Amino acid sequence: MKSRHLILAASVAAMTAACTGSTTNEAQNAETVQTDATAIDLQQKLGMYTSVRLTADMSGLSEKERQMIPLLIEAGDIMDKLFWYEAYGKRDSLLNALTDDAAKQFVKINYGPWDRLNNNEPFIPGVGPKPDAANFYPHDMTKEEFEKSSLKDKASQYTFLRRDANGQLITVPYHVQFKDEVKRASDLLRQAAALAEEPGLKKYLTLRADALLTDNYQPSDLAWMDMKNNRIDVVIGPIETYEDKLFGYKAAHEAYVLIKDMDWSKRLEKYAAFLPELQRGLPVAANYKKETPGTDSDLNAYDVVYYAGDCNAGSKTIAINLPNDEEVQLKKGTRRLQLKNAMRAKFDKIMLPIADELIADDQKKHITFDAFFANTMFHEVAHGLGIKNTINGKGTVREALKEHGSALEEGKADILGLYMITQLHKKGEVSGSLEDYYTTFMAGIFRSVRFGAASAHGKANMVRFNFFKENGAFERDPQTGKYRVNYVKMGQAMDKLSELILTLQGNGDYAGVGKLLNEQGQISAELQADLDRLSQKNIPVDVVFEQGVNVLGLK
Ligand SMILES: [Zn+2]
Repeated sequence: MKSRHLILAASVAAMTAACTGSTTNEAQNAETVQTDATAIDLQQKLGMYTSVRLTADMSGLSEKERQMIPLLIEAGDIMDKLFWYEAYGKRDSLLNALTDDAAKQFVKINYGPWDRLNNNEPFIPGVGPKPDAANFYPHDMTKEEFEKSSLKDKASQYTFLRRDANGQLITVPYHVQFKDEVKRASDLLRQAAALAEEPGLKKYLTLRADALLTDNYQPSDLAWMDMKNNRIDVVIGPIETYEDKLFGYKAAHEAYVLIKDMDWSKRLEKYAAFLPELQRGLPVAANYKKETPGTDSDLNAYDVVYYAGDCNAGSKTIAINLPNDEEVQLKKGTRRLQLKNAMRAKFDKIMLPIADELIADDQKKHITFDAFFANTMFHEVAHGLGIKNTINGKGTVREALKEHGSALEEGKADILGLYMITQLHKKGEVSGSLEDYYTTFMAGIFRSVRFGAASAHGKANMVRFNFFKENGAFERDPQTGKYRVNYVKMGQAMDKLSELILTLQGNGDYAGVGKLLNEQGQISAELQADLDRLSQKNIPVDVVFEQGVNVLGLK
C-alpha cells in the first residue's frame, strides 16, 4: 500500500502542475501504471451510490406554481456553483484535469476529490487531505493567526477570510465575493415571487431575494416560519456550517426545491393532537409522565424536486430542521421537513435489498414504504412524549444525561414512535397491518446499525436490537441467517423498553444510561457477520439523483 501511495503522489504533481518540463514523462508513466488500480477502486466507490430519478406528483399544482419551479431550480443551480467554490475552489480545472470518467463522476458526487462517505479520504492520486478550512479561509492561515486578527466580521457565517496584496488577513462578504451570482439568483427569486399566489410565500421569496444581496437572512427566516399554507417551498442560501471543519462558522450554500404533501401534513397535525392522551397512557409510573406535551408541531412532509450544493454532496439529506438562527427559533420555533420521495428512494434502493437478505421470507411482504415513512414521521412526533425535566431535582433531562442524552433521546423517539402507531392503530386512527410497522421497524434497525454503532443513532439502535433479542422480539434462523419477528413479544418488549428509557430519563440517571449504552450498544460478532453480507451483495450506501426540469417533465 505504501508504494502505491508514492506512485499516486507523483502522478498528481503532473496533474496540478499542468505538465511542466521534465517531470511530465515520468509522471505520465506513473499515471498510466496506476490508472487500472484507480479505475477499479473508483468503480467500487461509485457502487456505493445508486442513481434515482427525482420526480414528484405535480398534478395538484396550479399553472403559476408549475412556472415557479424552473425558476427556483435555476436559482438552485447558482447555489450549486457557490458551494463548489466553498468546498473546493475551481471546479472546472479539477474536472478538466481528469481523464477517467469514473473519477469525474465521483468528484461530482463529492464536490471535490475527497470521499465524503469515507471520512473525506482523498481518492484522486496525489491529492492531500481535505483542508479543514475548505475554501473559506486561506490554507496557510493558522487558528492562532485567525484568533489574533481584529477583523470584526471574521467569525460571521457569511464572510470569507482572504489575504490582501500585503498578505494581511481580510474578510470578504459573500454578497461581495459572489456579486454577480447572487444578483442573478435574487432576480430569479423575484420572478418566482411575482408568480406566487400565496401571500406568505410571496413575502418570503421577496425577502429571501433581498437577503442574498445583503447577507441579512433574519427577516426572510422569520417570514419563512410565518408561511403556513404554501404548496411550494424553497430552502435556499448559505445555511449549514458543517463544511467549515476549522471553526464551524461559515455557512455553505445549498438549495432544496420542495412541494408540500398537504395530505400527510394534515394527518400529522391530527396525530399531534393525540399526544396528551397518549402521554397519559405511557407504560411507566405516573411520576415519569406528569408533563403535558405541546400539540403545536410544525412538522410537514414534502417531495423534493431539486437538491443543489451542500445538501447534494455525498450522503443525501432526508429530513431538515430549520432555521438555525437562534433568535428566530426563540420567537417562532423551528420547522421540521420530512422529504418523502427522497426517503422512498432510499427505501427502494437500500432498505428493500437489506430486508431481502435479512428478513424471513414469509415476513418480507410486511416491509412497506408506508410503514417506513410512518415510523420515521412518528419518531419525530414522539420526541414530544415523555418528560423534559428530571423528577428528582437534577434539572433537565438533557443537562443530567450530558453526552449520553442524545443517544437515549433518539432511542426514546424510535420506540415511542412505534408505541404511538400501536395505540393509534388500536383506535382505528392508523390504517394498515401492525405487522407491517413492526417488521419494517426491525429492518430499519439493520439499516441504521449498518454503518457502525459510533453515532447517537447507531448506539440507540444497537441497544434496541440487543434488548429485543433478549426479550424474544425476534429470532434468528441459524440456517439462513434471517430474522423473524415475534409480534406479540415485540409489543411487550416495546412497552418494557419504553418504561426503561423513560425511567432513566426521569431519574437523570447518567451512570445508568452510560452502563446501558456501553453494555448493550455493541455490535456482536454474529450481527457483524450478517451486516457484512450486505456489503458483499453490493447493497448501496446512498443515492444520487437524476433531477431537473426535464426529469420533472416541465420542459
Ligand atoms: Zn430524532
